[in-house]
Amino acid sequence: MIAASPPTDQRARALGVLRMSLTARCNLACPYCCPDTADPPGMLSLEEQVRLIRVAANLGAHTLRLTGGEPLLSERLLPLLERVAMGRRTSGDPLQGLRQVALTTNGVLLTQERAKALRSVGLERITVSLDAVEGAVVARMAGLRGGGRAGDRLVGQVLAGLAAARSAGFDPAEGALKLNAVIQRGVNDDQLIPLAELARQHRLELRLIEYMDVGNRNGWAMEHVLPAAVMIDRIHRHWPLSPLGRSSGATARRWRYRDGLASIGVIASISEPFCGDCNRLRITADGQAYTCLFASQGTDLKPALASEHELEGAIRALWQRRADRYSEEGRVAAHTEPHAEMAYLGG
Ligand code: SAM
Ligand code: SF4
Repeated sequence: MIAASPPTDQRARALGVLRMSLTARCNLACPYCCPDTADPPGMLSLEEQVRLIRVAANLGAHTLRLTGGEPLLSERLLPLLERVAMGRRTSGDPLQGLRQVALTTNGVLLTQERAKALRSVGLERITVSLDAVEGAVVARMAGLRGGGRAGDRLVGQVLAGLAAARSAGFDPAEGALKLNAVIQRGVNDDQLIPLAELARQHRLELRLIEYMDVGNRNGWAMEHVLPAAVMIDRIHRHWPLSPLGRSSGATARRWRYRDGLASIGVIASISEPFCGDCNRLRITADGQAYTCLFASQGTDLKPALASEHELEGAIRALWQRRADRYSEEGRVAAHTEPHAEMAYLGG
């Protein structure tokens, strides 16, 4: 493939991050996300996924994040990572442009064996999601039947997954292991301090995510959003923080604990939108491309998937057309058209 000049969109934003959803299915059923129980028809093949990643890398994507649904449910995960690792080792392959390969998971299936296997095929970062510490709240947030006991069991699985990742070499001190938590006002905001405490104990960066208006199924309402500023104020009163800011193209605004134990970040898509430097392209498991989490329509890449040349043309064209800044325009609250579901978009 000939090295391409990276495109910019209508707001001078370059492509930087490719988020690829490997499945719309999940082994949990978080009510704020509402994943599917079956995958849609027309799932991408391994070859098509590799082609997509290679073309995106050729157009400037430096980060690949594999997500879902729950990506550890996908049998494709390891073979795909192997192919990406092979390309990154091959001189002249556009995959050499990838600086980081990452995974977002709920951690349930992150056994020691799996964590080691992921590490050995070149995965560099893992973000594990957990929205509470207290069993009953965990169960509510994950859509588990069985109340507190089921929630406690899930916390045990996630902690074991974190330990497995750490011992496989995903080092939190290097940013290779992080914790995500969606916070919903009145649902799990009492878990802010326990979650921060847990993350501090494990020296993990915790990322507090504002509840987002993604999809049509979760009954999102503004009153369930706890603004990031309120979250950070509560944490700061407990453990003083110093700001680190937000890097260009990043989703999280970060702070460090003044006692030096860890750092913490917020993803404030609702209260402090960061559309201005958004560099993310999202691909669903069935080959739809979205440049925004809040978009109602994607672009079907399937007709272009047979050749790298056509695919490059299709992605370049969609990126150059891109003008969205839904969050900044307050389209989030309007919610007039159907949206794509989170498990397809992958967060
Ligand atoms: N199953 C994996 C997991 O939970 O980490 C990966 C897919 S999940 C869709 C990716 C991220 O999106 C998770 O951290 C999840 O908490 C977050 N998420 C899902 N729905 C959300 C919503 N409505 N608002 C904010 N974050 C959401
Ligand atoms: Fe599954 Fe992740 Fe969605 Fe929860 S947020 S239902 S773990 S895909």
